[in-house]
This record gives sequence, structure tokens and C-alpha cells, in this order.
Amino acid sequence: KKITIAIDGYSSTGKSTVAKMLAKELNYIYVDTGAMYRAVTLYAMRKLFIKEGYFDKEALVRHLFMVNVKFALNADTGLGEVLLNSENVEREIRTLEVSNFVSQVAAVPEVRKLLVMQQHEMGKDKGIVMDGRDIGTVVFPDAELKVFMTATAEERARRRFEELQQKGEDVTYEAVLENVQKRDELDTTRKDSPLKQAEDAILLDNTHTNIEDQFHILLQLAKD
Ligand code: C5P
Repeated sequence: KKITIAIDGYSSTGKSTVAKMLAKELNYIYVDTGAMYRAVTLYAMRKLFIKEGYFDKEALVRHLFMVNVKFALNADTGLGEVLLNSENVEREIRTLEVSNFVSQVAAVPEVRKLLVMQQHEMGKDKGIVMDGRDIGTVVFPDAELKVFMTATAEERARRRFEELQQKGEDVTYEAVLENVQKRDELDTTRKDSPLKQAEDAILLDNTHTNIEDQFHILLQLAKD
């Protein structure tokens, strides 16, 4: 029987890696909700609704009806890539610049309402692995398997830094660590923070354990 798997947690904890492995093994659909918030952020950046020290939330909210976020399957990788108004922006949404603004955009209630609605629709047929911040608490509180992933900020920054370097981005470890810490703060301290561990979620700390081991633990749980 197909189930819903909700994977939440801090950034760069390997959420998406584990989620993709599970989806592939179980033949489920994988949805990266962070990519959806990133795509809306990219839209706001291009329209100059958000820039350093400036954010016109009202303008973004007024334009939301014109923002269409979808996923298209890449036949080579078998993975979904995010489309912003039909344009493939999978690469562009992964820059440090987008990462620096995304938590502010994700804090706008109208943005959350819209994306949560779309996520709910995507998962209505079960057989889905969704990763994000509020999947087990808000999007699918009834998910059969909920996971909450964490690791130290330093370890997560180290992983992110390596990733960005590999992509040829000109960044320093210090800038990445600062971004990770700022995002943690924005994602956790707001009163309506999206990042909360569901009571019935399994906590996985992977500062030291490897992804492969965690994948096998979760796969077993998904099959039980
Ligand atoms: O997972 P990723 O790091 O790509 O997510 C980017 C940002 O999007 C997070 O830092 C968070 O601010 C926001 N987000 C969210 N709710 C989700 C997924 C992501 O608020 N379900």
C-alpha cells in the first residue's frame, strides 16, 4: 500500500538526498517544496520586489496570481525540475543570492497559503515523498511516515559550501555559514515559524551518521 512520506528539517541536512533515494526505491513521486519557495523568490527578485534591505511584500502578493510554479520531469535524471512560468529555473534557484532572500519570501502568509495548497494537491494520491519545513505539521499532518532531520550548522555549512564550490560559485565558507545561521533563525524564531518537529516524527541527526544508513532505516520504516 502506498503511503505519504514527510521529510522536514533544517537546510543542508541531506533531506533531499534521502527523499530522492526513497522515492526512487519505492517508485514514488518526489516533491522538493523548498524549490517552490525558491522559485517564488526568484520571481520577486527579477521584478525587484526584493533586494538587499528592501522587500515590497504587497507588490509580491498582488502579483502572486501571475506566478506559476510547476515541476517537469527530466527524462535523463528521472527527477522533477522546477518551472517558473514555464521556464526551467532549476539552476538559478540554487544560488546563494536566492538562499539569502528565500526565508523572507517564505514568511509571507499569502505565499505559504498558495504553495501549501498546491503541495496538498500534488500529494492527494499517496505514493509521495515530500521534503520541506512544514510537511509533517501543516501540509500532510496525516502522513504515515514523518522524519525530522538535523545536523550542526557548521557541518551543514561545510556541505553547502562544497556543493556551491563544485558548481563554480564564488563563495566563502564564512558567507555560507552566515546564510545557514540566518536562515535557521528566520525559519525557527518567528511565532508562526514553518520549522517545527511534528510530535510523531522520527528525529535523525546526521552530523556524524551517513546518508546511506539513514536511507536504509527509513526504507524499512516505509515498508512496515
Ligand atoms: O529546502 P531549502 O533549503 O531549499 O528551502 C529554502 C527555504 O524555503 C527555507 O530556508 C525556508 O525558508 C523555505 N521553506 C519553507 N517551507 C518549506 C520549504 C522551504 O518555508 N516547506
